[in-house]
Amino acid sequence: MTVPKLIRISYLSSAAQGVDTGREIEAILAASRRNNARSGVTGALIFNRGTFGQILEGPDEAVDETFARIEADPRHDRIEVLALKKVDARAFADWSMGFVGRPSSMTEAVEARRTTFDLSSMDGDEMFATLHRIALGRDSALRIA
Ligand code: FAD
Repeated sequence: MTVPKLIRISYLSSAAQGVDTGREIEAILAASRRNNARSGVTGALIFNRGTFGQILEGPDEAVDETFARIEADPRHDRIEVLALKKVDARAFADWSMGFVGRPSSMTEAVEARRTTFDLSSMDGDEMFATLHRIALGRDSALRIA
C-alpha cells in the first residue's frame, strides 16, 4: 500500500470587495469544513484587514484539488503562495478548517492588537508559527473556531 505524501501550502490573498462580513466568512468556512472533512484536508484560515491567510495540509492530491478550487474563487484575488512543502505530520490535525480572527464585532482588545498584526507582511514561516500558536491555544484572544 502506498502512503500518500503529506504536503502543506500557505498563501495570502486579498478579499474581493464586500467579502469582509461575518456572513461571507461563515459561508467560506462552512464549505471548507464540509469539503475538507471529506477529503482529509486540515488547516487554518485567518482574515485580517482585507487579507486572507490560509494553511492547507493533507495528502498531496487532496490539497492540490482543494487549492485549485480556492484559486478559482472570485471572493478573493492576488493569491500569493508563501510556502509549499512536504511534511511528515500535520500541524492542524484537529481542524478541518480552523478560523482565526474576527471579521466583525471585534472586542476593543482584539481590535487594538489587530493594528499591530499585519498579515500581509508575513512570510510562510511567520504565518505558520502564528496560526499554529493560536491553534494550540497559546494565543487565545484571536481564536474563534
Ligand atoms: P459551494 O460553497 O456550495 O458554492 C458553490 C459555488 O458557488 C462554488 O463554485 C463557489 O465558489 C461559488 N460561490 C459560493 N458563494 C459565493 C459567493 N458569495 N460569491 C461568489 N461565488 C460564490 N473550500 C474548501 O473546500 N476548502 C477550503 O479550505 C477553502 N478555503 C477557502 C478560503 C478562501 C479564502 C476562500 C475565498 C474560499 C475557500 N474555499 C475553500 C471555498 C472554495 O473556493 C470553493 O468555493 C468551495 O470549495 C466550493 O465548495 P462547494 O462545491 O461545496 O460549493
